[in-house]
Amino acid sequence: MPDESNTNFITDIIDAHNESGRFAGRVHTRFPPEPNGYLHIGHAKSICLNFGIAERYGGLCNLRFDDTNPAKEEQEYIDAITEDVRWLGYDWGDRLYFASDYFDQLYDMAVELIRIGRAYVDQLTPVQIREYRGTLTEPGRESPYRDRPVEENLALFEKMRAGVFQEGEAVLRAKIDMASGNINMRDPVMYRILDAPHPRTGDKWKIYPMYDFAHGQSDSIEEITHSICTLEYEDHRPLYDWYLDNIEIYHPQQIEFARLNLSHTVMSKRKLVRLVDEGYVRGWDDPRMPTIAGLRRRGYTPAAIREFCEAVGVGKVKGVVALHKLEYHIRQDLNKTAPRVMAVINPLKVVITNYPDGQVELMDAVNNPEDESAGTREVAFSKVLYIERDDFMEDPPRKFFRLAPGREARLRYAYFITCTDVIKDADGNIVELHCTYDPATRGGAAPDGRRVKATLHWVSARHAIQAEARLYDTLFTEEHPENDRDKDFTAFVNPDSLTVVDPIYVEPHVESARAGDRFQFERLAYFVVDEDSTAEKLVFNRTVTLRDQWRKVQRKSRRPAKSKRRRKALQTSQA
Ligand code: ATP
Ligand code: MG
Repeated sequence: MPDESNTNFITDIIDAHNESGRFAGRVHTRFPPEPNGYLHIGHAKSICLNFGIAERYGGLCNLRFDDTNPAKEEQEYIDAITEDVRWLGYDWGDRLYFASDYFDQLYDMAVELIRIGRAYVDQLTPVQIREYRGTLTEPGRESPYRDRPVEENLALFEKMRAGVFQEGEAVLRAKIDMASGNINMRDPVMYRILDAPHPRTGDKWKIYPMYDFAHGQSDSIEEITHSICTLEYEDHRPLYDWYLDNIEIYHPQQIEFARLNLSHTVMSKRKLVRLVDEGYVRGWDDPRMPTIAGLRRRGYTPAAIREFCEAVGVGKVKGVVALHKLEYHIRQDLNKTAPRVMAVINPLKVVITNYPDGQVELMDAVNNPEDESAGTREVAFSKVLYIERDDFMEDPPRKFFRLAPGREARLRYAYFITCTDVIKDADGNIVELHCTYDPATRGGAAPDGRRVKATLHWVSARHAIQAEARLYDTLFTEEHPENDRDKDFTAFVNPDSLTVVDPIYVEPHVESARAGDRFQFERLAYFVVDEDSTAEKLVFNRTVTLRDQWRKVQRKSRRPAKSKRRRKALQTSQA
């Protein structure tokens, strides 16, 4: 799966390690999610990177839940995360771990640091601890409790563990350097008291290790070689190293890369949980969410997500990847794999006046022009059809080549038709077209070689099934919804991110489709059957449109000079 030629600074580091023999040629990574939300596309990048590197070097990758904060963690998230990693196509074998499995060992390591005089119990209040910490420009101050004797620290830490203290009354801190230029090194907290049951360890613990005290040692216990994390942890690396060096245990290498950000969405779980809780979306797996569960429901394939992650690459520079890049990869994948069907979303009735009433013909239709093995199917043609309303114009402008009064167009897999009459209601709205067909053009070609400029999709009104279509637009109207200092990101939620069209008309071929089945509705978009479908009615989610809308927008915005000129020309001619 990973492209061997696709090297990056991380593979360079690993190659150097393999050359120097630092890890004896071993490569063992891990993906360490905190079970406090669903995984998003940013996590997918980390998953592809960690599992991909293990695969590339014939190594291993563990799945480890970083469940050190019992207050925010739920079983629902653990289940969703394992499902998502598996769905993406990765296998952790029997190496599913929890940081909480190491609570006993971590406790012993903390005791060891106290014993050697490198940790102490501090009884400053949380507010005081913050005040004493100093700032980026000022050094911190040492706590009056810092030089307690070892025996006193051991006794107090034991009391913390036994639940003698309340939350906030005492913490265990590493004794490092309150004057360090790196705030993470100013006697960081190792353990705090939390009066919360843990989903896995229950009431056993009243104290819980901080992320920094748990992560490196968990890596060490699992004999991870390369602990890959995002750039925010660069300043934590000295602390990662300090703990391992001072506890004197096996020492993995932490490596940081730039996290993935995507335009028109938000990624932090803190924000995603708000979108769910405040009802902006229907749930974590809402097809508009950037979560793996949302993308899956939207119709994305694991392959497309993996290709996207590979294409984005790994670097040290922060940036935002345009959403259209993700869409490009799902389009590429579905173009190869999705069976084509005809569906009409915005119907206009067409009556073929010279077609025998009651006659039905079965037309051969190609299931996938990109995949001959997908074969053909039969599509029923009859006197009354629906075509797309957009495919007809009564007064077509110069560049409109589709159906218009008096004009001939091809119905895909069927006949040439010519529009003879436009039927309107009392208000002047077009309700129906009358057309004639040329029986000699069956299959879509004229024996006399005459050509038409447009091929339209259609369904037979009698045969089509009705379904619901959910059309999605970006969840946010802004490219960077988090960038506004004065407004909360929710101010930019797109009010039109979901449009429900019910009914749409689809050829009956899809009738037996099940949730997760993907189709291309010819000339429209890729769609996937949603799990909300019932025996009576299918519900389709629009995965992605066929054409790259974004490129169209770009092209337009790159042509201001021309349109200005045109406007000027217009003004002159009017003068
Ligand atoms: P969030 O800020 O979205 O809550 P997190 O870093 O707190 O993310 P974790 O569950 O701790 O979420 O992340 C698990 C792993 O995924 C970590 O190694 C983290 O660095 C990585 N990760 C998280 N977000 C991204 C991202 N946007 N791009 C790449 N990797 C990410
Ligand atoms: Mg985190």
